[in-house]
Amino acid sequence: MFSCDYHIHTQLSECAENDFSIEKIIEYQQEHGLESIGITDHDYSYQSKVKTIQSARQSIKDAEPSIDVHFGVESQMLDYQVTSIKIRMASYFDYVLMAPNHYHLRGVERPKSIRDPRRVALHEIYMFEAAIASPITDAVIHPFLLSPDVFQHSPETLAAFGQEMMNNIEHKRLIYQLDLASQRGLGIELTPKIIRYNQHHLIDFYQLCLERDVKLLIGSDAHNIKQLEELSLISPIIKDLGITEKNLWHPNNSNI
Ligand SMILES: [Zn+2]
Ligand SMILES: [Zn+2]
Repeated sequence: MFSCDYHIHTQLSECAENDFSIEKIIEYQQEHGLESIGITDHDYSYQSKVKTIQSARQSIKDAEPSIDVHFGVESQMLDYQVTSIKIRMASYFDYVLMAPNHYHLRGVERPKSIRDPRRVALHEIYMFEAAIASPITDAVIHPFLLSPDVFQHSPETLAAFGQEMMNNIEHKRLIYQLDLASQRGLGIELTPKIIRYNQHHLIDFYQLCLERDVKLLIGSDAHNIKQLEELSLISPIIKDLGITEKNLWHPNNSNI
């Protein structure tokens, strides 16, 4: 049903399993019939070292993949017009995934109150606008997805809180941003985390993305083999929303 996965971490990301290598990922994805994938570790995993970036790219080449393997990076908005990655660093990658809501990381502007869905809504749309406006962004990942680690709710409460938050997002403001994303050819990530975190309020959001002709990026955000498999959790959503190849985002350049 889908043959790409553009959000995959390797052992270089501290949060990933330590034997989750580029070789292992490529081998697994080739066996499972994927046609195009992207390796996307956190920007801070490289500690601003160009050599580490270049050697990761070299590992992809050395693996001699029989499928398209792109080399991207996961970054975050710290605040409006402030990204964690700088333009020079970003230029070493094929594409930049921009997270508007990495509230667990130091330096990322947080909502004024994480207990008030209206406050969270205001902040989420503000950071989403910031990610869309940044010239570094190629795709916005997990927007409006609330992480249980940050919000500390049970799955049921988090689902209700997420819905309440989404209801408080000003519709016109959101549509305006989606139209900008569409014009710029930015992707918006469709992630199996919406199932894992019980975030069904995002289904309507994806529907809106499709209506506004925004391309969706398929990304597992895998940190281990099991999470690569979890990508199939979004198959029913892809089917229900009628998502086809023409709705999907792909990196448009590869230097590999
Ligand atoms: Zn993330
Ligand atoms: Zn990630």
